[in-house]
Amino acid sequence: MKHPDIKSLWPSITPAAVVFLVLFGLLVYGFIKISALTENVNSLTVELASTTTALSQSTSELALNITDLRSQTVGLSDTLSSTQQNIDAVSSKVGGVEQKVGTISGTVGTLEKLSQIDPELLKKYSKVYFMNENYVPAHLAGIPAGYLYNETKPEQFLTEAQPFLQSLLDAAKAGGVTLYVKSAYRSFGEQESLKSQYTVVYGAGTANSFSADQGYSEHQLGTTADFITTGLGGQLDGFGDTAAYQWLLGNAYRYGFVLSYPKDNGFYIYEPWHWRFVGVKLATYLHNNNMNFYEMDQRDIDAYLADIFD
Ligand SMILES: [Zn+2]
Repeated sequence: MKHPDIKSLWPSITPAAVVFLVLFGLLVYGFIKISALTENVNSLTVELASTTTALSQSTSELALNITDLRSQTVGLSDTLSSTQQNIDAVSSKVGGVEQKVGTISGTVGTLEKLSQIDPELLKKYSKVYFMNENYVPAHLAGIPAGYLYNETKPEQFLTEAQPFLQSLLDAAKAGGVTLYVKSAYRSFGEQESLKSQYTVVYGAGTANSFSADQGYSEHQLGTTADFITTGLGGQLDGFGDTAAYQWLLGNAYRYGFVLSYPKDNGFYIYEPWHWRFVGVKLATYLHNNNMNFYEMDQRDIDAYLADIFD
């Protein structure tokens, strides 16, 4: 058989066929490419979907975790507030105990102070309550001569109350007021002789309301002074009309002194010169309430005894 001649074949391939072949090739190539791309896209889509699923799973897990954390936080804050409540309860109990301890130690302190203070110092003396004739203050000290009206006649005052007396007299002096002590502590014997002198002059009935009893007892305490100023010729009469008396009315309480027998009092004759030391606290209370010592209930007065020298 005769070999087909290539040259004989060649003319049979027309240009149209060549174009067709080329186009067909391109078509096949394109198809392959598109298939590959589609596959890629598909696999990417699948991957994306799985990633999205994974992400949404993670998100919901996170949300769960957050919810869990939240509930734990709430639990914690509950625990904290109940702990705080417990702490508050405990500390209020401790505070109560502290208060009780404070009250007890305060009471003990007051009792200790009271045991060292003479209860007679705040007693009201009257026609039915006399001071014992043997009573003598525990400590008496001489009043410095500079404070005395008559420097040659020594006067004594309760030692513990002496600084208050001197402060009063110093303050009066600083305020331009002339004030001296005319008479202070008087023993029972001294008073007896004074009373008998009055009795001789005025008769027994007058003497009882004049010099005996209350006024006398207060001087026997050692905490009472009769004040005097210049211009009265050494007499107590007329003291109620002096600037010195006005000064005492406005200032004596600051040093613990009260006027025992004010004008129109129902207890004793008016004695503007006669001032008794009862302590700054009680004197201030009486002054602020415009009250008289003798009007006050004895039990209420006794509450001030522990603080008499404060
Ligand atoms: Zn007096």
